[in-house]
Amino acid sequence: MSTINPFESAMLQLDNAAQYVAMGDTLEILKQPQRILNVTIHVKMDNGKTKIFQGYRVQFNNARGPYKGGIRFHPQVSLDEVKALSFWMAMKCSIADLPLGGGKGGVIVDPKTLSVSELERLSRGYARAIADNIGPTKDVPAPDVNTTGQIMGWMVDEFIKLQPKKLTKKETLKLRSTFTGKLIADGGSEGREEATGLGGLFVLQACLLKMKLSGKLTAAVQGFGNVGYNIAKFLYEQGFTVVAVSDSKGGIYNKEGLNPEAVLASKKKTGSLKASGKEITNAALLELPVDILVPSALESVITKVNASKIKARVILEMANGPIASEADTIVYKKGIVVIPDVLANSGGVSVSAFEWEQNLKGQHWTKKLVNARLKAKMERAVDDIWAMSKKIKTDLRTAAFVVALGRINKAMK
Ligand code: NAD
Repeated sequence: MSTINPFESAMLQLDNAAQYVAMGDTLEILKQPQRILNVTIHVKMDNGKTKIFQGYRVQFNNARGPYKGGIRFHPQVSLDEVKALSFWMAMKCSIADLPLGGGKGGVIVDPKTLSVSELERLSRGYARAIADNIGPTKDVPAPDVNTTGQIMGWMVDEFIKLQPKKLTKKETLKLRSTFTGKLIADGGSEGREEATGLGGLFVLQACLLKMKLSGKLTAAVQGFGNVGYNIAKFLYEQGFTVVAVSDSKGGIYNKEGLNPEAVLASKKKTGSLKASGKEITNAALLELPVDILVPSALESVITKVNASKIKARVILEMANGPIASEADTIVYKKGIVVIPDVLANSGGVSVSAFEWEQNLKGQHWTKKLVNARLKAKMERAVDDIWAMSKKIKTDLRTAAFVVALGRINKAMK
């Protein structure tokens, strides 16, 4: 794990990119969130006792539109982490050229220790705690680690209940745009579930075309949750040889390739990945000699300790912040092309933005239309960032931040 706190890491990235943009005072403004909500949530537990949970909502910047970003339920949530994630959301929405700003939320909790009804009361309590500061034109939360479409459904229901005046059916439906990542029955979008993985595939394919890298490419994927499983499945379907996948308990390796769908089916049956290949540790997976390494689980898994041992040609950062900033230069100097998180995983927020737009317009788009719009958005983002990296002769992360900052800076002037 990195010793640098995530917000310090984010600010180093900001300073680095700011060298290429004439920002003036905007730079100082972007060093702090516009608003931090620090909330306590009182939850009646099944045993009748009340437990108090600590939550946050950080609204980083709304120059380009309402704040947008997920809510994380995790025991290690900290204010610095939520601040960093909200900053990255502002960058990500700008990179994908969405009319949205950046925000993020979190609650310090291990949801695995809660019953379903306790989880529902916590989710509703969190929605009540931040209700005054959210809404379709203010701040639009979504799921993140350990939060689901069902949880978004509870939150949006609670938010709608709190409205002071009686709403018409049309107004109620429109107000569902306050949360995205909802189940389809609650006004969710087709394609949201797999959007981050599919967006990652579109980004990777567009980058490989620019790099003129083709043929039978190998990939290793760390993490086998929503993002890891979906990107592994799409890579497999597109003819990549997925030689390794992993989850929190460890990974599996097969030189001939794994079929992620079969691995998931086996994991569901046996409770572990083990039955599908030779066991490999998460640390060893990162150091495999593959073409594409896809960290899709946690922050800061590549640090100055292991960066020099990475052998991949391309790292597709599907997780947020998997390369600690202290390791970025080491990886860059090795000639590895890093496709940064703010670009690679922006498919999720893009389809979230489509969901918001559909709710506001009272529409429901087909999956074909959602995916076509996603592909166009991801390819456009790659084109913009690739061109910037050539123009200013930097890595893609710096170029992505420069593109994002340029747009935010313009909106703030
Ligand atoms: P998830 O909870 O569905 O899955 C996380 C996966 O990581 C699980 O398979 C878990 O077993 C694995 N994992 C946990 N600890 C691990 C460890 N020490 N080593 C290896 N694997 C480990 O979460 P997710 O939604 O897939 O999110 C993963 C990452 O992608 C996070 O960084 C998240 O912020 C980012 N992200 C998610 C989305 C989205 O739409 N879900 C969008 C953008 C970014």
